[in-house]
Amino acid sequence: MNEDLTIEHFMAGLIKRNPNESEFHQAVKEVAESVIPFINQNPKYKKARILERMTEPDKVISFRVAWEDDQGDIQINKGYRVQFNNSIGPYKGGLRFDHSVNLSVLKFLGFEQTFKNSLTTLPIGAGKGGADFNPKGKSDREIMRFCQSFMTQLYQHIGPNTDVPAGDIGVGSKEISYLFGQYKRLTHQFESVLTGKALEFGGSLIRTEATGYGNAYFMEEMLKHAGHSIKGKSALVSGSGNVALHCAEKIIQLGGKVLTVSDSSGTLYVPDGIDQEKLMLLKDLKINRKQRLSGATELFKSKYLEGQKPWSIKSDLAFPCATQNELTGTDAKLLFNNGCIAVSEGANMPCTPEAIELFKDNNILYAPGKASNAGGVAVSALEMSQNSIRMSWTEQDLEEKLHGIMKNIHNQCVHHGDDKSRVDYIKGANIAGFIKVADAMLAYGVV
Ligand code: GLU
Repeated sequence: MNEDLTIEHFMAGLIKRNPNESEFHQAVKEVAESVIPFINQNPKYKKARILERMTEPDKVISFRVAWEDDQGDIQINKGYRVQFNNSIGPYKGGLRFDHSVNLSVLKFLGFEQTFKNSLTTLPIGAGKGGADFNPKGKSDREIMRFCQSFMTQLYQHIGPNTDVPAGDIGVGSKEISYLFGQYKRLTHQFESVLTGKALEFGGSLIRTEATGYGNAYFMEEMLKHAGHSIKGKSALVSGSGNVALHCAEKIIQLGGKVLTVSDSSGTLYVPDGIDQEKLMLLKDLKINRKQRLSGATELFKSKYLEGQKPWSIKSDLAFPCATQNELTGTDAKLLFNNGCIAVSEGANMPCTPEAIELFKDNNILYAPGKASNAGGVAVSALEMSQNSIRMSWTEQDLEEKLHGIMKNIHNQCVHHGDDKSRVDYIKGANIAGFIKVADAMLAYGVV
């Protein structure tokens, strides 16, 4: 027990215990690489086997979700909640409804959430859940019936002091409303059991904007630290959901020029930049009318690059805001060759390990999602606070708090990741996120 923990030995054990979970392995490896050297310098964590404990979820709940489609046919989906770690607060993290959802994806997301939620400095533990249900092309009534069935299984495992889910890919305000309605019907309790609620029944201002705004704020802090700013810089944004569109909105407000947004079929390229007016049209197209981005070419002057990702377009900054592993080593090379200086992740784990390696080797500033996209869950925690005191804070108050939290996360990354010549934001985020949870676990003894 005196010899150092090695990354190879640790990862071999993890892979053996969790076979065929490549996304989970990827997320853990990235953390292990920065945290294991720190653990070896701090034997109290090694002796208590904190990292081994932290990589095993507290509890994994898996259930059947049966529902009836509009034709009267019965459909069956897999539903899950991974309660990863509640050392520093009730489990907290989103629900994802997407065809790609499986246990590996939810374990990677739940594990990342542990560090992200710790970085916010707010009292929230980590969880993630969802289903392999694809809301695309489903009618409103089908989505409602699915959400009701899902909550009928989930409700007994969650609660305002136990586990507080929210949205993620495929789960927005509409789904949260159906889920909350069903929870209330089953328990007869009106309580803060979900965040991302509508304003009429306990939601918080700024929650919708928070992940995207926070990502732009983080980029601004990272650039400022390196002597730059967003003002006057061009930016590629991928995705066109809640995170991407609000990230674009804050980049525009900070004086940047947003050249792209994208969906699973291609990229919308606006060489003159997306202004606030065009952004409003895009929000209406994507959020209200749920249409494809290609439809935007009829609304304003733009090109739709069918089947292409944004990363081949020349730009100063990149904001991957779509989904995991969307930005590969090849894409990173394109960004570098075109003079990109900084990347800030709005999605969870959107850059592959090869892409991250390339950023590192070429001194491209890189912010991992667990730091840069923590604004969403941070405002979720503020929604819980407002629900507890039965008061609502103003938009200005909340945006100031969000901005302060993002600055604080940036400072923590600099504090723990400063390697003299440059800041290693992965190392900084991982070590800062680790310490708070690890110290709580140590305090609890062997549990
Ligand atoms: N799904 C978001 C995330 O990845 C937000 C979770 C929440 O608000 O609880 O952090």
